[in-house]
Amino acid sequence: MALNKEIASKSCCSLSQTRTNLVPGEGSPEARIMFIGEAPGQKEDQEGKPFIGAAGKLLSDLLLTIGLKREDIFIANVLKCRPPGNRDPLPAEAAACLPWLSRQVAIIDPLLIIPLGRHAMERFLPGMKISAVRGKILRRNVPGLGFRVFMPTYHPAAVLYHREWLTVLESDFKKIPQILEYLTENPSNGETDNVSGNWDTLELGVKKERKQEQFF
Ligand code: SF4
Repeated sequence: MALNKEIASKSCCSLSQTRTNLVPGEGSPEARIMFIGEAPGQKEDQEGKPFIGAAGKLLSDLLLTIGLKREDIFIANVLKCRPPGNRDPLPAEAAACLPWLSRQVAIIDPLLIIPLGRHAMERFLPGMKISAVRGKILRRNVPGLGFRVFMPTYHPAAVLYHREWLTVLESDFKKIPQILEYLTENPSNGETDNVSGNWDTLELGVKKERKQEQFF
């Protein structure tokens, strides 16, 4: 991806000084699903690839349960460079990196975006709590990206620490094929409406009552 070269050529936040390798993301340019994690960890930083540790294996295993392989999806992180010590992304770092993530979404143009964990969710669904909205299908008019459909869920790394969340993560993944089928058959559910800055929830086959909360 030419974009990767462009990202690598910039020192857009201080993490460019401490990373070993840029980890821009990888997957199919034709992917219908885009997963978004938090930031590269140590192994990812060493190899320049996203989700290759234990959390990545869990993600791959979950994909297999719904008949998908890593090559079928696109996966990226909020941050493209590892924060030292795997600390949380700082707000300024996440803000500096957001234009790259937005451009990846625009290029891949996925039917469904799955934010993994609160940091990824905050980029596109600010102010929401992951525990409140995980597993829900949310449609939102994202500035610069138009209407996008999201299903936030837990980050696999968090599930490795909270094994009791595994059944929840598995149940969220089981929804993915049906969501994709629905969005393929009802493309207007991802792009038409005259609201701006609002979000609503979709249930498969049923458009639910619009919620008028304003997030911007
Ligand atoms: S984390 Fe993002 S904003 Fe910071 S240097 Fe890396 S690519 Fe640039």
